[in-house]
Amino acid sequence: MSRALVLGGGMAGMLSAAVLAEHVDEVVVLESDVYPAAPGPRKGLPQAYQNHMLMGGGAQAVDRVLPGTIDALIAAGAHRRSIGDRFLILTAEGWSERFRTEPFVLNSSRHLVDHVVRQQVLRDPKIMVEEGVTVTGLRGDRDAITGVDADGGRRGFDADFVVDATGARSKAPQWLSGLGLPMVEEQFLDAGLAYAGRWYELPDGAGADFPGVLIQAEPATGRPGRGAALMPNEDGRWIVALMGTRGAHPPHDERGFLEYALSLRHPIIGNILSAARPLGTIRSSRATANRRRFFERMRLPANFVAIGDAVTVVSPNYATGMSVAALGALALRERLARTGLGRGSVAKAQTAIAKAGALPWQMALGNDRWFPGVETNVRMERLFGMDLSGVLGPFQQRMTARWQRTAASNFAMSRVTHEMTALTGSPAQMMSPRLMWSLIRGPQRPPLTAPAAIAQFPEFGELPYPSAADLPVERAR
Ligand SMILES: Cc1cc2nc3c(=O)[nH]c(=O)nc-3n(C[C@H](O)[C@H](O)[C@H](O)COP(=O)(O)OP(=O)(O)OC[C@H]3O[C@@H](n4cnc5c(N)ncnc54)[C@H](O)[C@@H]3O)c2cc1C
Repeated sequence: MSRALVLGGGMAGMLSAAVLAEHVDEVVVLESDVYPAAPGPRKGLPQAYQNHMLMGGGAQAVDRVLPGTIDALIAAGAHRRSIGDRFLILTAEGWSERFRTEPFVLNSSRHLVDHVVRQQVLRDPKIMVEEGVTVTGLRGDRDAITGVDADGGRRGFDADFVVDATGARSKAPQWLSGLGLPMVEEQFLDAGLAYAGRWYELPDGAGADFPGVLIQAEPATGRPGRGAALMPNEDGRWIVALMGTRGAHPPHDERGFLEYALSLRHPIIGNILSAARPLGTIRSSRATANRRRFFERMRLPANFVAIGDAVTVVSPNYATGMSVAALGALALRERLARTGLGRGSVAKAQTAIAKAGALPWQMALGNDRWFPGVETNVRMERLFGMDLSGVLGPFQQRMTARWQRTAASNFAMSRVTHEMTALTGSPAQMMSPRLMWSLIRGPQRPPLTAPAAIAQFPEFGELPYPSAADLPVERAR
């Protein structure tokens, strides 16, 4: 009887379990937490107190691994929202026009995603979970893993195949090195981003149609980045995330939280919160560095792969981590469908998993590198050993800014931007002659003013304005 062990039962672990069940007699997920019976907090998922949205590309990947999951999430209260039509967005280059574009996100609490994905996976009788088991090491040698040690060696589990999905704090590099393998190469880029988050009940009148709001941080001003998001969750709750890079961390006391929201480039989120009822306490998170472990560059044991945050951690600012886990699981599935679990399958599978995270990683680094005080060991834009970052970097940054300014009022560019955000697009789409021509011409309409941008969404009612005196003239009439 063949058995695969999955270490860690979060998003990456659960989806990997579904994939492996197609190849072995049984899959055992070893999870250090005891899962709550209903969607709710658990120790191993502290980030779930913060805003989590599942990008459309990630949701579709989940649905391919586990058909019916998008519907199950929506039935449980998640909101499927067009990025262009259901969010008021202030980019680093100004307010975006409202466009009805296809690319979407799923908004819900992370607790709900965790719960629904797990329920979907555990319908398969070949998959079981051992809860309350903390994996502490790998057994075997550099050629093959034979099992794992758990709870400091007090327990052990045999395995024919092992997937590490223990997340950003994975100890797999140390465990592998303990078996005589070299340390896994690692890159990081840390803008020192901190989150402060809280759930709210919005006042009457803010129904299911109430728009989400995104105020994005400006990356290349020389000042720390400051931003915020207001997103719907299930059960009528809304979650607010305040975000600041090194030097501008959002406070987590009552008054400081509101003042930070009011002091952003536009106070709309603070204004809305002034009329909303807070639910629970303010929680902070600083686990936000971009980090990539290049497992695919080493000769791994023949029956071991790593996936999800254990491989690629993308700063939460880009809301792509769960999607990277899902796209990695889909890549694993597609690879194993061709090669099975036999010898030689692991190297290709690990490369496919790494590739699934490569674009989100590049997009995050392309933006985060411009915040002041960034710490990194990534050497950007090197060609034949020459450092071209001083030339290519600023050029790329200017082009990105011009793209954002133009896309704000250009439907086709806006759609492609949203496809990139949702991880359903490819950079090649941005290079089409039509879009390149639009980019060269630049914006064809003057930038939206704040009142005009907000007025695109009558669903806001008068909540963005704290008093009648603040109403734009056309609304006050
Ligand atoms: C503040 C913040 C906001 C974020 N916002 C978003 C967002 O909007 N959208 C998005 O897509 N992503 C977001 N992310 C990223 C997202 O949370 C992660 O990318 C995602 O959780 C990765 O899934 P994973 O399964 O690889 O790891 P995890 O979710 O961390 O799961 C790892 C699992 O392994 C278990 N475990 C750990 N060690 C052991 C062990 N030794 N033995 C047994 N079990 C173990 C843990 O208990 C946990 O269940 C955010 C992250 C942060 C920090």
